[in-house]
Amino acid sequence: MTRLVLFDLDDTLVDRSAAYRRWAAAFAAGRDLNPADLAVLHDVDLWQVGLFTQLSRIHQHFAPGEDADRFWESFRDHYPRYNRCEPQVLRGLARLRNAGWTIGIVTNGRTVNQTDKITFTGLAHAVDGWAISEEVGASKPDPAIFHTAARRTGTDVTAGGWMVGDDLVADIGGGQAAGLNTMWLHHTRPLAADAPQPTRTAGSVAEAIDSIVANASVS
Ligand SMILES: [Mg+2]
Repeated sequence: MTRLVLFDLDDTLVDRSAAYRRWAAAFAAGRDLNPADLAVLHDVDLWQVGLFTQLSRIHQHFAPGEDADRFWESFRDHYPRYNRCEPQVLRGLARLRNAGWTIGIVTNGRTVNQTDKITFTGLAHAVDGWAISEEVGASKPDPAIFHTAARRTGTDVTAGGWMVGDDLVADIGGGQAAGLNTMWLHHTRPLAADAPQPTRTAGSVAEAIDSIVANASVS
């Protein structure tokens, strides 16, 4: 049995919406913003509109004369620093390690941004390895990126293990295709019947870790 747990990064180990709110607060700081400006910044549900769409709105509202690509690049240069890994998540990862589990991160995104997030949040010291789609050359749900992540932790997925994530296609479907048990972080969303069905569901990373450690015989 492989005591391996792979985690997704965005909206699993780190809260993307919270990072956005911190960035938006910094963006607003020092600016004389009226209520309409603040609404553009804060009245957003990233689950609904997506980060790219929201940034496009902000660009059009605050910097319509600025080159869109440059605006987006500036955001991406700074945004990773606004990500945090909550203490209860770091404690959960430490608990997993103490229980003998190997831990990896498998994430889709740009190498520079995702590496910065993993570093700035302290996750680099809390896990045994990671794989980022841009540098791997394969994105979730392609099983290849899960195999790469596992290999970098010094293990492999052929004897089982877990994939924990919030995306049913990328994380759950991909994890299954790689031969892993899967834990879906539902974030209060319903589980669609026609989506990949996870082995288990959890409301938080801490709950997911509790479930894995308490029922290790399943893996
Ligand atoms: Mg995610």
